[in-house]
Amino acid sequence: MTLPSTYADRNCSLARTLEVVGERWTLLIVRDAFFGVRRFGDFAAQLGIPRAVLTDRLKSLVREGVFTRDDGTGGAVEYRLTAKGVELWPVLRALMTWGDAFYSPAGAKRVFRHERDGGPIDRDGRCATCGSAVPVPETVLETGPGFEPEDRGEDPVSAAIDGPRRLLDPVKLPR
Ligand SMILES: [Zn+2]
Repeated sequence: MTLPSTYADRNCSLARTLEVVGERWTLLIVRDAFFGVRRFGDFAAQLGIPRAVLTDRLKSLVREGVFTRDDGTGGAVEYRLTAKGVELWPVLRALMTWGDAFYSPAGAKRVFRHERDGGPIDRDGRCATCGSAVPVPETVLETGPGFEPEDRGEDPVSAAIDGPRRLLDPVKLPR
């Protein structure tokens, strides 16, 4: 449900942003896209989200220009982040950092490294080794000390995104 538009919202871009990404599941779908998920069935399997809700959220993200919807390899439809969508990365990283700080006593659930030199990326997106602001495609995702491995059962998508992997690289799954 879209938040009711009020006078105060008209002058707050947070309210406008939340109309795009504030609904339940939406940021998790966006997160999975950063982690390399592109196909409807893979989002559904990874998130355990009702298919009707996933359909609605993907349509909305495409309408807002956060995702594109294209025919991928083998003719399957693929959803990918646009340049506008990729600019949400600092938002996701900040929310993860906040969650780690206040809800993960064992430490970060996921950590990020600069692919070129392996340097850890700090909360502002800078590499501790070379000092540069690391672009999303050069960011490698790894599990951190607070990560709790789960029994993944039949879900190969979750297993595929847990490993060290570069953001935005498509998950490779046996089809
Ligand atoms: Zn670096």
